Amino acid sequence: MRHIFHNLGKIKRSLEGKYLFLFLDCDGTLTPIVNTPNKVIISQKTRRLLDLLSRKKNCGIAIISGRSLDDIKKRVGLNNIIYSGNHGFQIEGPKIKHELAVPLGYKKVLQCIKAQLKEKLCGVKGVFVEDKKLSLALHFRLADKRQLTFIKTVFHESIILYLVKNKIKIRPGKKILEVIPPVHWDKGRIVLWLLARQVFALKKKNILPIYIGDDVTDEDAFKALKNKGLTVFVGETGNSKADYYLKDTKEVTKFLRLIMDLKSN
Ligand SMILES: [Mg+2]
Repeated sequence: MRHIFHNLGKIKRSLEGKYLFLFLDCDGTLTPIVNTPNKVIISQKTRRLLDLLSRKKNCGIAIISGRSLDDIKKRVGLNNIIYSGNHGFQIEGPKIKHELAVPLGYKKVLQCIKAQLKEKLCGVKGVFVEDKKLSLALHFRLADKRQLTFIKTVFHESIILYLVKNKIKIRPGKKILEVIPPVHWDKGRIVLWLLARQVFALKKKNILPIYIGDDVTDEDAFKALKNKGLTVFVGETGNSKADYYLKDTKEVTKFLRLIMDLKSN
């Protein structure tokens, strides 16, 4: 993987004269990862940049997040942006509103699992269950390390029957375990879907997708955009499929500023 800023000449040339469709992960990409995800805020500087970019004629922005749709919309708080919340199960933005169809009975299963998790883990500090309507997240970032085995065992016991019957899927993340619909829908598919939609809506062929993300789930998008766009992993190391990397969220802001300057000239 190459660092973006060490390959600026090439990158600038590839952006020239293109409509840029920016796909941005939120946590760990636009904001640093913190121990209390509900306190995460996007800096004024980054928000202002996103706002300006979203108003550019030759630029579109989609925020791709695992957070619930309402949460991510509130946190970013800009109108001219497409929000893909809840792992893309819900997508909303200018002239777009889409909710993934889930199998019959799925929502009921989710409620059963939620009840079980809440009951068995109510005494464990630093754990909470988040109901995102089409998915369920068990957060344990603040839990005592010695409790992790217990927490994971409870999760496993609560979901295993549904999992073997293909009633649900699970998704592990950073200090989080999630129950999601048993459908094939990942960040790669979301990005290609949104991209195809944009190509159709704008009747443009010279659209360059740029995807920036730090998560394992972002790898699906990196794979989907191979040879189609610019993919950027956020972080120091890792076996990412992305073409380039940026070290941290500060560098992401710097790169957004660079795109802004390019589009202003
Ligand atoms: Mg992330």
